[in-house]
Amino acid sequence: MDRQQEFVLRTIEERDVRFVRMWFTDVVGTLKSVALAPAEVEGAFAEGLGFDGSAIEGLSRIYESDMLLQPDPSTFQILPWRGDEVPTSRMFCDILTPDGEPSAADTRGVLKRTLEKASGMGFTCYTSPEIEFYLLKSRELGADGFPTPVDSESYFDHTPGGIVQDFRRRAVTMLEEVGISVEFSHHEAGPGQNEIDLRHADALQTADNIMTFRTIIKEVALSQNLYATFMPKPFTDHPGSGMHTHFSLFEGDTNAFFEAGAEFQLSRTARHFIAGVLKHAPEFSAVTNQFVNSYKRLWGGGEAPSYVSWGHNNRSALVRVPLYKPNKMQSARIEYRGVDSAANPYLAYAVILGAGLKGIENEYELAPEVTEDLQALSSVERRAMGYHSLPSSLHDAIQRTEDSDFMAEILGEQVFEQFLRNKRNDWDAYRAEVTPYELKHNLGIL
Ligand code: GLN
Ligand code: MG
Ligand code: MG
Ligand code: MG
Repeated sequence: MDRQQEFVLRTIEERDVRFVRMWFTDVVGTLKSVALAPAEVEGAFAEGLGFDGSAIEGLSRIYESDMLLQPDPSTFQILPWRGDEVPTSRMFCDILTPDGEPSAADTRGVLKRTLEKASGMGFTCYTSPEIEFYLLKSRELGADGFPTPVDSESYFDHTPGGIVQDFRRRAVTMLEEVGISVEFSHHEAGPGQNEIDLRHADALQTADNIMTFRTIIKEVALSQNLYATFMPKPFTDHPGSGMHTHFSLFEGDTNAFFEAGAEFQLSRTARHFIAGVLKHAPEFSAVTNQFVNSYKRLWGGGEAPSYVSWGHNNRSALVRVPLYKPNKMQSARIEYRGVDSAANPYLAYAVILGAGLKGIENEYELAPEVTEDLQALSSVERRAMGYHSLPSSLHDAIQRTEDSDFMAEILGEQVFEQFLRNKRNDWDAYRAEVTPYELKHNLGIL
């Protein structure tokens, strides 16, 4: 047994922890959990915990349904929202096959594999997400057919004594209690919409943190009789919820994206990385924007990107290079603005990072930055200037992914197949459904 495992066992005993939840994720990013009695944890470290993977979306084919959960002791945390009376904890797990090999169906494994590729090229990848979400009064719909936001505030608004301030204070305190550092939190543009930005961490830790974040946000909302949603676009008339993520690559202590004196202080490595991300973005949108509803955000205005472009101070760009303090090496980074708050973070970070690494490997050339507001141009102007668009619907996105060798390689055959199967089901169900839009336009329902 290693030291981290020993530490976990000791903490369980000292803190009288009664339940140890084993957390893992299905192919679309839903958190799964199984509670272990403390006496079982040592065995789970040694041999893994057997479970039937066939009941979990995208995890295994029916003829190979036996799988193992291998808890990662570095992720052990006591869960503060369960209270002190019955101390409960959790660990994230890797999914293994019965002979102890990493399962090809594990999306956490897909990210780990991509990070190994990065480290083989000499890089550590740091990420920091800006996570947007809506706080609603409940899950019920109002007379207008939409849920009711908790307030009617807007960007950076501050209402003394507001229920949302109370919410953010509680949520941030709880996040810090489980070791997730928060940099900023503020009201976003939509009514009831909030954003919380996490401090950068290695990409695997960030993806784990996002899974925990979603749980904590939902728990804190429920404790205030509210409902939190990470749905990409809950309202036709208000902005969607993005999960812009900042990426940087380090070689040891050196930020590989930084070059003093270069344009925007961007190194060649950074330029190739951006070029790779832009080249593959339409192919990986099905992952970063995985729901029918995701495309209502991408094409619904509200500062969500619709076109493949980059810029340094342009909020219509898909990749933004934030302005740095002069020569501030450590903070050089790029912001990918396409991904939404409902993505599976393991897969989303694997495909974005994987695309960037492809750009570095193949020394893709970066096109000039975009300086105009892309949304304001006509489609003829955009075409003349060579700007491609992101997929216009889930259907379009699925087709681009299906045709992509890059995606098959990054996801691996099994996740590639299972993910696409799940998404085709989504699209088929959606296209069979008669919507309020059609009733309004074809039947004249008001
Ligand atoms: N809500 C916007 C999006 O969906 C982002 C708004 C912002 O942070 N500038 O991407
Ligand atoms: Mg922000
Ligand atoms: Mg924002
Ligand atoms: Mg941003």
